[in-house]
Amino acid sequence: MNAKSFTLMACGLLLAISCKNGKKETTTTHEQTKHEQHWSYSGETSPEHWAEIEKNSDCDGKHQSPINIIHKDTDSSATKNNLKILYTPTTLISKVENNGHSIQFDFETGDSINYKNETFYLKQIHFHEPSEHRINGIIYPIEMHLVHLSKSGEITVLSILGEEGDDSELFEFFDSFLPIENGASKDIHHNIDLSSLFKGNNNFYSYNGSLTTPPCSENVNWVVFKQPIVLSVEEVVKLKNNMPLNNYRNEQPLNDRVVTLNY
Ligand SMILES: [Zn+2]
Repeated sequence: MNAKSFTLMACGLLLAISCKNGKKETTTTHEQTKHEQHWSYSGETSPEHWAEIEKNSDCDGKHQSPINIIHKDTDSSATKNNLKILYTPTTLISKVENNGHSIQFDFETGDSINYKNETFYLKQIHFHEPSEHRINGIIYPIEMHLVHLSKSGEITVLSILGEEGDDSELFEFFDSFLPIENGASKDIHHNIDLSSLFKGNNNFYSYNGSLTTPPCSENVNWVVFKQPIVLSVEEVVKLKNNMPLNNYRNEQPLNDRVVTLNY
């Protein structure tokens, strides 16, 4: 056994131990938490193996996410913007957690969006580094998922891609709660104004897909904003340092789906 394979084995052992701990501490928070002990972004439990290790999941389904959005193939024939962001400037963040897969900010129920004439409530925001969705094959340094749930259990995720440039006040705020250890959470109970995410950002792609983490359920309305937001390299790096390396799922086949361009 060379030094490299020993290190890999030691890492595997460490993962197994932390997974056991994760299981013990898991409470009845939400669906994704229940699965966090089984899967990962690397090695034998990486995305390529999710369908085999998550037996009752949709991970091998035909309408999976993320996808590569090819602009010229999108349908813009009869579409208009049917999304209303109804966040208030006093959106209340309740806590931040490191769930071992991402950094996640949880919200008090209240703020919502209206999409396709249905109300969806903002539950949580988390991050992927680099992006999961691609636009015309381009991978962005970061992707932010704003997860919303309707009263009937339908999910709408707003996806905002990030490119590197000037500082973002919003990401300064997110980063101010870091570092946070794997499995730990911190109470916040603080107002946040998310409006900067949507300034001049009216065009978006939409399609029917899935959760990008097990159980990969195929009941997700995806809204991917065309225009990325700008944040600094340092802000990306701070998030990256608190998440598993490359916490993204690879591109999934579009199959019979059509991506719509809304404007
Ligand atoms: Zn996500």
